Amino acid sequence: MPKKLYLDKQSVDFYEKVKEISGETITLCDQCGTCSGGCPVIEQMDISPAQLMRMVMLGDKEVMDTKTMWLCATCNTCTVRCPRELDVSKVAEALRQIRLRQSIDQVKIDEIPKDILRELPQIAVVGAFRRLTS
Ligand code: SF4
Ligand code: SF4
Repeated sequence: MPKKLYLDKQSVDFYEKVKEISGETITLCDQCGTCSGGCPVIEQMDISPAQLMRMVMLGDKEVMDTKTMWLCATCNTCTVRCPRELDVSKVAEALRQIRLRQSIDQVKIDEIPKDILRELPQIAVVGAFRRLTS
């Protein structure tokens, strides 16, 4: 059954916050799906970039619990192709910032087994800490 969404104050506030942080007028998105079609990491995502834009547009906070915002590689393929000149990666970054401001880290060094940690490229570990921890 389709989920019912209500545009209450909380939804509008959430949308406005993402808009302010990202600098993107997300309501311009016409859901053409071009971003999703060209995204190189869509196979790993749980919702497509176009779905992410739609959830934000509707003020649906469940978007915060999806993997997609963490997997966006900021490659800008979608930005180059978007007919509305929207930057999905900036929206994903805004969502990450909102989560990290709640001091919820996505990488917990203590939980990575030492043998795996030794094998990881140092630059990937540093990059993950810069991007995914508060
Ligand atoms: S390409 Fe642009 S307009 Fe089309 S769905 Fe993606 S963000 Fe929206
Ligand atoms: S910027 Fe992010 S959402 Fe856009 S194509 Fe690249 S990985 Fe996909």
